[in-house]
Amino acid sequence: MALFGTNGVRGIANKELTPEIALDLARSLGTLLRERKGAAPKIIIGSDTRISGQMLQNAAVSGLLSCGAAVTDIGIVPTPALQYYIKQHPDADAGIVITASHNPREYNGIKMIAGDGIEFSKDDEKAIEAIYFSKKFYTADWSETGCLLRDENCNEEYIAGILEATDRKAIEKRLFKVVTDTGNGAGSLTLPDLMSRLGCRVLSIGAQPDGKFPWRNPEPLPEALTEMSAVIRHSNADLGIAHDGDADRAVFMDENGDFIDEEVMLAAIEKYVLQKEKGPVVTTVATSRRFTDIAEDAQVQIYYTPVGSVDVGRKMAEVNAVYGGEGNGGMIFARHQTCRDGAMAAAVVLEFLAKSGMKASELKKTVPDYCNEKTKIKLQNSDAGKAMAEISEKMVRDKKEIGYQSAETIDGLKLHFKNGWLLIRPSGTEPIIRIAAEAKSKEEAEKYVKIGRKYVEEAK
Ligand code: MG
Repeated sequence: MALFGTNGVRGIANKELTPEIALDLARSLGTLLRERKGAAPKIIIGSDTRISGQMLQNAAVSGLLSCGAAVTDIGIVPTPALQYYIKQHPDADAGIVITASHNPREYNGIKMIAGDGIEFSKDDEKAIEAIYFSKKFYTADWSETGCLLRDENCNEEYIAGILEATDRKAIEKRLFKVVTDTGNGAGSLTLPDLMSRLGCRVLSIGAQPDGKFPWRNPEPLPEALTEMSAVIRHSNADLGIAHDGDADRAVFMDENGDFIDEEVMLAAIEKYVLQKEKGPVVTTVATSRRFTDIAEDAQVQIYYTPVGSVDVGRKMAEVNAVYGGEGNGGMIFARHQTCRDGAMAAAVVLEFLAKSGMKASELKKTVPDYCNEKTKIKLQNSDAGKAMAEISEKMVRDKKEIGYQSAETIDGLKLHFKNGWLLIRPSGTEPIIRIAAEAKSKEEAEKYVKIGRKYVEEAK
C-alpha cells in the first residue's frame, strides 16, 4: 500500500486520515531524521485553516516529541510560508504542514518538507513509508523527550521576503486596485496584507480564516470565483487574485473579471522571468507547448518531469533552473524559493504589469496561442497500470497509422505530432485514465483526444 499520493498523504479527516496515522507518520519522520542526523532533529510544524488541523497537528507533535525532536509550531500558515521559514532557518531539519490544499472541506492531509524547503523526494517518502509500516519507531528515553516551542513570526517573515524579492517601487507607482479571494484559507493571513504593502488598494473577499470554508470550495476554479469577477467589474479593479486552501497556487482574473488561463499565465511569466535572468526552466509533460516555445525563443534548456510540483521543484534544484511550474496556478521562482508560491506569483504578476504598462487582459497576447482538450475515462477492471501497458504497446505499434512523430514515457504516454501532442496518463489515486491534447486548432485537439479515447476504450 502506498501512503503518499502526488502531494503528501490525504484523506477525509477522522475517517481516512486519523490522529493515529498522523502520530505514526510523524514518528516515522522523526525516526528517519534521527537516524540520518545521529542526534535529535529540529522540525517545524504548521497547518492551514481546516478545522481538523489542530487534531492532526497535535497528534503529529506528540509523535515528534516522542522521538526526542525539537518542534516549533508556527501556527496557521500558507504552505510556501512554512517552506520559506525552513529556508530562512538552516537549523531546521524538516517541516510538516497539515493541509489538504485544494481538496473539499472534509479532507485534510499531511505534507512533509525536507531541510532544503522542498517537499521530500519520492525515495525519501518511500523510506518514511517503510518505517511507518514496520512500526520500528525511535523512542527517546524519558529524559530526552522533545520540547515544543511557538513562533508566530512566520507569516511576517514570509511577506517581508516577498517584498524584498520584488520591485516594490515599480508596483507602488501604478496604484493598482486589486481584488483578492483567499477563500477562507491560509492565504487570508498573507495575501491582502502583502498586496496593501505593495501599495495596492485592496478589496478582499473570503479573507477570514475559517476551516468550514463558508465562502467557496478551496479549489479556485473559475466557476467558484464568480463573486470575485463581479467585484472586479463593479469596482473597476485592475486584477483579481485567488488562492487554493494552502495558498501555494494563485490564479488570476483580468480587469474585465475574465479568468486568465493558467497555462497562459505560466508562460507569460516564464517569458518575463527569462528576460531578466537566463537559465534552465522545468515543467511537467502535461504543460502547454506555450512553455516550450518560450524556452526555445529564449534559447534556454527545458526539462520535463512527471506531473506534480514535487518533481518540478526537485528537478529545478538539480539543474539550477530559474523558473518552473505547472499549468494549474503553481509557479516556482528559484531566486526566491524552489517551491510553488502563490503570493510570490501574485507579486511577480503585478511587477510584470507595472513594468510593461500592460492591462491584465493584454497578457495573453504575449504568448503563443494553442487549444487544449481533455477527458477522463473510468476503468472497469480498475488496474490503471495494466491498462496503460496495453494502450502504450498498441499505440507504439500503430505509429504510422496514428501519424505521430515521436513518443515519450516520462509520465504515461505522450505522442508528439507536428503541431501538437496527445498525453495518456493513469491517475495515481483512482482507476481513471486521463487523456489530454493540445493543438493549434480546437478541431485538431479534439481529433487527438478521439484517437486516445479509442485506445483507452479498447483497454478498459
Ligand atoms: Mg495547494
